[in-house]
Amino acid sequence: MSQPTRQQAEALDARDPLAEMRARFDPTSVDRDGRIYLDGNSLGPLPLGVKERLIETTMGQWGGDLISSWNDHDWMLLPRTTAAKIAPLIGAGPDQVICGDSTSVNLFKTLSAAMKLRPDRSVVISEIGNFPTDLYVAEALLSSVGGELRLIDDAETELRDALAPGDVAVTMLTQVDYRTGRKLELARTTEMVRHFGALMLWDLAHSAGAFAVDLAGVDADFAVGCGYKFLNGGPGAPAYLYAATRHLDRAAPVLAGWLGHRRPFEFMPDFEPAEGVGRFTVGTPPILSFAALDEALNVFRDVAPARLTQKAQSLTELFIACVDGFASDHGLQLASPRDAARRGAQVSYRHAGGYALMQALIAAGVVGDFRAPDIVRFGFAPSYLRHVDVWDAAERLRRILADGSWRDSRDHPRRAVT
Ligand SMILES: *Cc1c(COP(=O)(O)O)cnc(C)c1O
Repeated sequence: MSQPTRQQAEALDARDPLAEMRARFDPTSVDRDGRIYLDGNSLGPLPLGVKERLIETTMGQWGGDLISSWNDHDWMLLPRTTAAKIAPLIGAGPDQVICGDSTSVNLFKTLSAAMKLRPDRSVVISEIGNFPTDLYVAEALLSSVGGELRLIDDAETELRDALAPGDVAVTMLTQVDYRTGRKLELARTTEMVRHFGALMLWDLAHSAGAFAVDLAGVDADFAVGCGYKFLNGGPGAPAYLYAATRHLDRAAPVLAGWLGHRRPFEFMPDFEPAEGVGRFTVGTPPILSFAALDEALNVFRDVAPARLTQKAQSLTELFIACVDGFASDHGLQLASPRDAARRGAQVSYRHAGGYALMQALIAAGVVGDFRAPDIVRFGFAPSYLRHVDVWDAAERLRRILADGSWRDSRDHPRRAVT
C-alpha cells in the first residue's frame, strides 16, 4: 500500500462488515475525548451490559437471593456456560472448554496432565522468548516432577530439530509472540509435533477474539488462553482451558479440587474426576468475575471468527503502511512480520527511546504499551477499532517524532506496569 490517506481509511470503514460491533462497547471506554485505545491486547475495554450485569449479580443475586443463587441463578454452571461462548472463537466444541483460574494456573493444569499422558518421555519444548509466566510454570513443574525444558529461539525454524530425538512429551508454544506479534501457523506446527509423538499445548492469550482459531480442526491436544485481553472480560478475568476429546476422560488433574469431583456434594475422601473437561475445575468460581466475562463475551455473538481475522489484517496492514512513510527517518524499526498471515492483531516497533516515546504517545491520546528492552507495541482489536483510528494514531505518532516532543518524557521514572 502506498502512503494511505484518511479518505482511504474512511472508505475501508464504510465497507467494514464488523463496523457495528463498536456500538457493543461502553462509550466510556471507546469514545472518550478522542483517545485511541491500542492496548486491548493487554486489557480489553468495557463492553456494554457488563456494568448492569455486575449490579444485578451483586445486588439481586448475592445480596438478595444469597446462597440459593448457586442453584437459582446457575452460578454453578458459569464455568461451563461461559466457556461455551469462547468455544466457537477457538474452533472447539462446548464440551472441550472450561473457564476458571488464571492462564498461568491453566498452563500448570494442562502441562502437568499432558506430561502424565506421556509417562515414557520427560522433555518439554518451548521458545526462549515465550511469555515468562509460561516458562516459569514449566520450569517449576519440571523441577518438581523431573524433566527437561528444551528452549529454542524460533519455533518456525528450529522445532523439527528439537523434536527429532523423539524424547519430547509436550511442546508448549504461544501462538502470537507478545513482543513481536509473530503468529505461528497452528495446523502445520501441531501436525509436526504430533508426528513426533509429542502432545501440543497452545497458549492462545493473544489469539482468541483477535482472529479465528481452529483447535479441533488442527487436532491440538491442549490449549489455554486469557479472559481479559481480546475477550474483554475485565481485569483479572477468568482464563480458559481446552482439552481434545480423546484426552478428556484420561487426563488426570494434578490440581485436583472438590469442584472437579464427580459428585462434590457427597464430600467423599477420595478424588474421582468429573466426566469430561469439568474435572479441571479446582475451587469455587469467582462469580463476580465470571458475570463480567460471561456478559462481555456477548460482544462476539453472531460474529464469524473469519471476519475478525480479515479485519485484524486490514487494520494492522494499514498501520504498517502509514508508519512506513516516516519510520526510517526516526529510528523506528518494524519488529512484526510484514506478511499479514504471519502476524496477530498487533504491530510492534523497536525504538531506542521506546519507553519515553510511548509515554508521549499516551499523553497524546494513543494508548499502546512498552515491552522491555525497546519494543513499542500496538494492539488492533478488530471488534471496536476503526480504520480511521488507525490512521489517526499513526499521524499522532508521526507528529510526536517529527517535533521531537517525545524526548521531554525521557526522564519520567518507569512505572510498575509498562
Ligand atoms: C497475558 C499472558 C498470560 C497471562 O497469564 P495470567 O496468569 O492470566 O496473568 C500468560 N501467557 C501469555 C502468553 C500471555 O500473553
